[in-house]
Amino acid sequence: MIIYSPENAKAGVVTDEWFCKLLKVLRAERRYKRKGPDLWLFYGEEHIAYVELERKLDWESYEWPTVCKQCAKKGLKECNHWDKVNFPERKARGLPEGWPEKPVFMVTFNKDGTNALIVEHEIVFTPEHFGERRWTRRGYEHFYEVPKEKVTFGLENIEPYILNRLGIRSGERK
Ligand SMILES: [Zn+2]
Repeated sequence: MIIYSPENAKAGVVTDEWFCKLLKVLRAERRYKRKGPDLWLFYGEEHIAYVELERKLDWESYEWPTVCKQCAKKGLKECNHWDKVNFPERKARGLPEGWPEKPVFMVTFNKDGTNALIVEHEIVFTPEHFGERRWTRRGYEHFYEVPKEKVTFGLENIEPYILNRLGIRSGERK
């Protein structure tokens, strides 16, 4: 169960703003607060996709970290703890009933919104990425663990990634 709290809502507002600033061709709308992906994406009047937004608070640097905090404390310069990008199992579920079937894009911002990564939902949620369950503030959760090579980094690459996956040439405006 996802608990809807004012804090979550506030976190959602900031990532909505960050994401919408990246759009030059597409337009995003938040339709519902509690269910389904965070934003609906439109190309002109046409609804073409959804976006699921996250803000990863322990991704504090601009670059994706090469070493985790625990290993850094031991004096290591790199470790394998950030080799994979984790997505919680609860994001694997399908669209709410009645929602049009469209691709879903997973966008994760770093703590201050200066960098982000994107990957398509169908790339993330495959059996080969299904990982161990871990203890989190929500209780035990399984995560899908995606090698970082499979995601695309950079604010400037977010919209082009979506356009590319949808076969829209980025020069076109509708
Ligand atoms: Zn580590």
